[in-house]
Amino acid sequence: MDAEFDIGIIGGGPAGSTAASYLAKAGLSVAVFEAENFPRDHVGESLVPATTPVLLDIGAMEKVEAAGFPKKFGAAWTSAEQRDIDHMGFRGLTHDFRAAEILFSERDQKGVDRDYTFHVDRSKFDQILLKHAESLGAKVFQGVRAGKVDFSGEHPQIEVKIAGRSTQVPVRMVVDASGRRTHLGSQEKFKIADPVFNQYAVHTWFDGLDRKALAVNKDQADYIFIHFLPVTDTWVWQIPITDTVTSVGVVSQKSRFKSYGGDREKFFWDTIASRPELLDVLKNCEQVKSLKTEGDYSYGMKQIAGDKFVLIGDAARFVDPIFSSGVSVALNSARIACQDIIAAAEKGDFSRAQFSSYEAKLRRGVRNWYEFISIYYRLNILFTAFVQDDRYRLDVLKMLQGDVYDDEEPKALAAMREIVEAVEKDPNHLWHPYLGDLKAPSAAPSF
Ligand SMILES: Cc1cc2nc3c(=O)[nH]c(=O)nc-3n(C[C@H](O)[C@H](O)[C@H](O)COP(=O)(O)OP(=O)(O)OC[C@H]3O[C@@H](n4cnc5c(N)ncnc54)[C@H](O)[C@@H]3O)c2cc1C
Repeated sequence: MDAEFDIGIIGGGPAGSTAASYLAKAGLSVAVFEAENFPRDHVGESLVPATTPVLLDIGAMEKVEAAGFPKKFGAAWTSAEQRDIDHMGFRGLTHDFRAAEILFSERDQKGVDRDYTFHVDRSKFDQILLKHAESLGAKVFQGVRAGKVDFSGEHPQIEVKIAGRSTQVPVRMVVDASGRRTHLGSQEKFKIADPVFNQYAVHTWFDGLDRKALAVNKDQADYIFIHFLPVTDTWVWQIPITDTVTSVGVVSQKSRFKSYGGDREKFFWDTIASRPELLDVLKNCEQVKSLKTEGDYSYGMKQIAGDKFVLIGDAARFVDPIFSSGVSVALNSARIACQDIIAAAEKGDFSRAQFSSYEAKLRRGVRNWYEFISIYYRLNILFTAFVQDDRYRLDVLKMLQGDVYDDEEPKALAAMREIVEAVEKDPNHLWHPYLGDLKAPSAAPSF
């Protein structure tokens, strides 16, 4: 049986639609099967600048700009406590530790032509990208869920249900962009739960929130804010969605959420109340969506490519959203995978070996993210110290920009790892009491 399409993509989120755009631009025939009818809501609203080169590459940037999403020039962190960190040779840390911030304009980034990125309403952003892929020639099937993929014949066959009828669609290769549903990863049993991270999130939108209330610098109202809470491994995001609407999410250990017997309302408000000044701000505005939960979201895959398939975006890997990396990984994994897919199509060889450069690059980038996130949770005081130290600031900013795919390891990571080890070993260390509960291996797992 002939293939109906060169490439069948499962999932039309940012990873799937970006891959569809690259592949359609390259002249391949592409089908995208998306289970939902867009627009649909989605968590993950704050972008990092590593999305910019990809949006420019596929020609979607003008449409994203035209949508009028709030511009994101930087990120800021606030904490309830003041701590003495003028220690261990860190210079210039005598100022207030309650706040840290970065501006994207502080560091030039290859392929990034503006000093901001965006906070996005994902229902709109994802629809723009999916329509864009369609405008480039991809065939998009919405409301069509992919079922089992059969790899036993000459061509993979994707089972789909269209108009109540189950059909097999033969394609030359499959791209799994199904997000945290990890369609092929589950089917092929590649998925491995993360041994360390087991975080849980409860989130919603508020109208009328005073975004400056906890900001030290009042010009930063439209930054993303990460508010540390005086509860282990717990933080809150504050992300502008429109001029007046703000997304707020609480992230904490799943075990803490469970101790509330699943009462998300009580969990959300009790956790917020640990920062009374944050509670005061939220009490004065209107909650415009019901609370939503996200759980069990950290995992890796034993394999992210194989004969006639690759996994991209969340379908390939998801760690933790602390540094807003998800959408940039979705877009960049699509970009990198498509370089290999296009070359494979030219050769007419879709065997796993053709995707080796994708596997290596994505694993390197995600390993950098993973280690950065692990160190952050283990000793978040260190993150703030590094951001404020001019020896490391730009290196940390590079990671926060999502610029993680080309280098083996940013030097700040190696330095952070050494310090964490020293603090762990010495119970009398000034920072020892600040160690968090999540203890990742000092070298990130290889999946
Ligand atoms: C609590 C939390 C906070 C986050 N915050 C941020 C943030 O601030 N910034 C950021 O960049 N990222 C954030 N993320 C991550 C972000 O949500 C994801 O990384 C991003 O959405 C990944 O895009 P994707 O295209 O891979 O998957 P998705 O966006 O999930 O898209 C997958 C699509 O596949 C479809 N699908 C699934 N199964 C099938 C099937 N069988 N057949 C057909 N279609 C199917 C789904 O309907 C969906 O539309 C956060 C994540 C969590 C959990």
